[in-house]
Amino acid sequence: MLEKIDIHLTDHCNLNCKGCTHFSPLSEEFYLDYETFKKDIDRMAQLSNGRIKFIFLLGGEPLLHHNITQFFPHTRFLFPKTRIVVITNGILLNNQDENFWQSCKDNKIELWVSDYTLQVDYKKFEAKAKEYSVFLGYTSTAKSADNKKLWTKYKLDIKGEQYYANSFKNCTVKNCVTLKKGKLYTCPTIAHIEHFNKFFNQNLEVSEFDYIDIYKIQDYDALCAAMVKPVPFCRYCKPLEFEQCYWEPSKKDINEWI
Ligand code: SF4
Ligand code: SF4
Repeated sequence: MLEKIDIHLTDHCNLNCKGCTHFSPLSEEFYLDYETFKKDIDRMAQLSNGRIKFIFLLGGEPLLHHNITQFFPHTRFLFPKTRIVVITNGILLNNQDENFWQSCKDNKIELWVSDYTLQVDYKKFEAKAKEYSVFLGYTSTAKSADNKKLWTKYKLDIKGEQYYANSFKNCTVKNCVTLKKGKLYTCPTIAHIEHFNKFFNQNLEVSEFDYIDIYKIQDYDALCAAMVKPVPFCRYCKPLEFEQCYWEPSKKDINEWI
């Protein structure tokens, strides 16, 4: 059974963290269109018969999507037992109207706020969530002794000279299964590397062996088995060479990722 799938509602973000593993600071504006989403989520429901524990709607920053509530009812209809979660940095949460909160309530959507300790009125949206009985939780960000946000930067090897099976073995983001345009990837790195390639004029190659085409795979068991195996793209990753640093806004410098 798939533990979870990530779906980007936007690729860009309003926070732009250094070395973002989803490459959002490098992305142009991208909003997922509903028809693409519906086709793919219908197929995932058909394959899995609802057996997915979590569906994460994220980005980038998903609240940048002007029609975010459009995605909620059909996902809930197809996956009645799945925990459906919007992961947000919280910056726009106090801008949401009553329709947003009502839709979260009606469709049992959870809100998980990444805790970046920003200049945001956290108490205000906590009260709103309580008013509508919407689950709101935080994903924590580590802090230094002097209360600065700590950040982990993962490193890419742009030459692709790592041994792919070792990279996979040591990887901490594998199985963050990502659904994008009819394809399932074992991690967001492969799914969104196009932004890194385009911005820095690189060519970290994604081949047909690096993803599953959800319209060609025969059944759910084959799909789940494929998602726990290393893929050739893992040769571009150096998971043991991650770097601990303070959180900063991205300067869009390639050294943030390599
Ligand atoms: S908030 Fe999340 S998606 Fe946005 S730039 Fe930071 S790490 Fe990336
Ligand atoms: S490409 Fe492989 S090693 Fe790199 S993040 Fe994805 S699963 Fe992990």
